[in-house]
Amino acid sequence: GEDRMLRWSVLVLCLLLPCSAQQHLEEAKRIMETTPVIDGHNDLPWQLLKRFNNQLGLPEANLTQLTGTHTNIPKLNTGHVGGQFWSAYVPCETQNKDAVKRTLEQIDVVHRMCELYPETFACVVNSTGIEEAFRNKKVASLIGVEGGHSIDSSLGVLRTFYHLGVRYMTLTHSCNTPWADNWLVDTAEESPVHHGLSSFGKTVVEEMNRLGMMVDLAHVSVDTMKMVLNISKAPVIFSHSSAYSLCPHRRNVPDDVLRMVASKEGLVMVNFYNQYVTCSDKANLSNVADHMDHVKKVAGSQSVGFGGDYDGVTGVPTGLEDVSTYPALVAELLRRNWTEQEVKAALADNLLRVFRKVEEMSLQGTAPHEEPIAFKELAGACRTSYGYSDTSGAGPAPLLPAALLLALPLLSTLLS
Ligand SMILES: [Zn+2]
Repeated sequence: GEDRMLRWSVLVLCLLLPCSAQQHLEEAKRIMETTPVIDGHNDLPWQLLKRFNNQLGLPEANLTQLTGTHTNIPKLNTGHVGGQFWSAYVPCETQNKDAVKRTLEQIDVVHRMCELYPETFACVVNSTGIEEAFRNKKVASLIGVEGGHSIDSSLGVLRTFYHLGVRYMTLTHSCNTPWADNWLVDTAEESPVHHGLSSFGKTVVEEMNRLGMMVDLAHVSVDTMKMVLNISKAPVIFSHSSAYSLCPHRRNVPDDVLRMVASKEGLVMVNFYNQYVTCSDKANLSNVADHMDHVKKVAGSQSVGFGGDYDGVTGVPTGLEDVSTYPALVAELLRRNWTEQEVKAALADNLLRVFRKVEEMSLQGTAPHEEPIAFKELAGACRTSYGYSDTSGAGPAPLLPAALLLALPLLSTLLS
């Protein structure tokens, strides 16, 4: 039967490849049968928007045979993916425009994915849900909102996202929000505004702690990383970032921050994007394993995870072409003498530990933070000011539009 076939193919492969490589791959798959990978960041929802305007019913959007993406259902199965944080990502261009609406639509498309393919996906909202999905051989599907601009500086929107199943939020994408600085301020491209978080930004982190939503520090500036690591009561994650000392890209995590993550029992889920792995267009599986080794060396095996960034990036390493390839990376870690326990930690146990801790430390039932951001800290011409009594210093001077409004009836009288 199948067993004999498997042994035969191992034997045949052993003639072609070094036997140990094949054994490591078999060992990786065996481990992943019970401890599949929980990946921190996948942009399939963004692909669904771009390619199909989120119409999952289109024949070409069939996830069992989707082509041209890193992710589809057969690839997830081959890759032993047991948990995925699907990214509800909307570009910075939407800030102060339709960010909230578009984020809600990306959350909705994940919910519809779970409904349409119940044999594959199980939308879950807590650590026990992930473990249950593992037992049922489903892909535990969770939602991460990528970029604080998605809440439009509103704690009410943040809480509503939580109610809709969002379990992490990346504090910024590649733009500052009115309350947090992004990684570009560490380059020449943008200037720091808050030098980390503003006072409202600190409230956002406190409210996330209170809700039991993980704080994600991918994409933020180093000052923001350090400030959050100092103030967050619960451990934090980097959902898709690599090691700065191996590739000095500002999206990566410097060693002193890695040590802070370790001391706070947090997690760095390593990004596979070529530009973050080798700071060039080309990378391979071994280069990614180097990053995992480095995080392990500096922060310990309890701080390592996988954050592939599949379908969010253009160039992925040779050997890690799509989501079916996680077992090959695990095999490489085994070849590098990672113990089974260390491998399991990186695959799922570390994320589960952080998530459980965030859940335990949440203060559901205590009063929510209610004080809104000051109106003057907001930008955007379409914004109304309902509820605010002090709108001083806000946006464009209201005098000109008011004068126009007053003049309109006069003009129309004159013209008629
Ligand atoms: Zn990203």
